[in-house]
Amino acid sequence: MSGSRHWAPAAWMDGAWQRSVVLETDADGRWSHIAAGVPAPPDTEHLAGPVLPGLVDAHSHAFQRAFAGLAERRTDDGDDFWSWRDRMYEVANAVTPENLRAIAAHLYVELLRGGYTQVCEFHYLQHQADGTPYADPLALSMALADAAADAGIGLTLLPVLYERAGFSAPSLRPDQRRFHAGAGDVWRRSQDFSARVTAAGRASRVPLNAGLAIHSVRAAAQSSLVELHRLAHGFEGPIHVHVSEQRAELRDCVVATGRTPVAWLAAQGWLDARWQLVHATHVDAAEIAATAASGAGVVLCPSTEGNLGDGFADVPAWLAADVDVSLGSDSNVTRCWREELRWMEYGQRLKLERRNVCAQPPGAAGNVQARHARPQPDTAASLFERARAGGGRAAGHATWGLLVGARADLLVIDPDDPGLLGLPQARWLDALVFSSPGRPWRDVMVAGRWALRKHHHAHVERISAAFARAMAELWGRD
Ligand SMILES: [Zn+2]
Repeated sequence: MSGSRHWAPAAWMDGAWQRSVVLETDADGRWSHIAAGVPAPPDTEHLAGPVLPGLVDAHSHAFQRAFAGLAERRTDDGDDFWSWRDRMYEVANAVTPENLRAIAAHLYVELLRGGYTQVCEFHYLQHQADGTPYADPLALSMALADAAADAGIGLTLLPVLYERAGFSAPSLRPDQRRFHAGAGDVWRRSQDFSARVTAAGRASRVPLNAGLAIHSVRAAAQSSLVELHRLAHGFEGPIHVHVSEQRAELRDCVVATGRTPVAWLAAQGWLDARWQLVHATHVDAAEIAATAASGAGVVLCPSTEGNLGDGFADVPAWLAADVDVSLGSDSNVTRCWREELRWMEYGQRLKLERRNVCAQPPGAAGNVQARHARPQPDTAASLFERARAGGGRAAGHATWGLLVGARADLLVIDPDDPGLLGLPQARWLDALVFSSPGRPWRDVMVAGRWALRKHHHAHVERISAAFARAMAELWGRD
């Protein structure tokens, strides 16, 4: 693939709109040259509208897409996260490499349509449903890689350390057997996945990389956590962990370790800029301060946290502490970052009875958004900038966005989108998040290649048909 040259009437750069922008990619699918205020050169592709960077979906369990919309019926008085999880396991145990590939490819096309150009898969499906290993230990991981390549989205695979059902349980429950992976397994799968996708040349079709994950402090023996930390010495990829999503998990962690999960991880001295704390819903000021001091980021999943009744993350406190905040679609009930950002802000408005909670007035005293480009009085811009930079780091990228050296991903806004008509372009980002369901992404580029053109995905009919067959296999046709 050779590089390409594009011109956009406007582009979101360094936290603001710039006009008349030339963007050039190199043969590796990265931005090699970007300049604003340049008239359109004659030999340049004119993009149809203003452009934004694509965002990273920093937390997904692709198989749960098959369950979206099917867990909204009340069946008993105690319906909560844990009863949802038991039902979710029924799906987990019906998934095969073939139907996972179909479910994930459909999801990934939806994520592209939702404005994501990279997805981090927190991947704990490892074995057959009875716990027997597949002949190829990466069978389900490669199903996700194939799905990403088919859809044209970047993928960060995060094999998950998962060994026990809880602090007081020595092993997994029978319905969790296919999740089992110790520290050595996780390390090996991450290394093997990277080696295999590089050798197979898959990495040249879509960008694929691997990190590490820990299901939760409750789901791994302390000795295994120590072992994984030792193996990861010098490892540069991301390390993700679910933390403090549910209050019951906090209570159990305090009983077992004397500390809550974030406090326990911080006390080990392990947290650093590679770490991503997923959810971190129920945390105190000391835990937020410890996270900020370590350089770790948090991944918030507002639509799933709302769907599961997790509680409200303290978004203003994370922003004020200058911690990276990225977005995850998690259970995939929503596949759109505009909706996630809307919920991130609306949750705080509902809780605090205020508006524009996640923005900062111009010239605000004590601006602590030090690592971020500028104080953002526009709420959508404030949250978008955090999700842009934080999401890139969550996927293992040092830079992310319309920057020279970053991956050449972008979203072309459809200037004819009904929700944007008549609005000043300076407010389009706010309008994209807080007005109109719309279908605003006309074209989507991933690593210098077009994944969507004029709203169309080249393989959508085949991918949709395979998804429908997989759903029929899982749920029947009634
Ligand atoms: Zn999760």
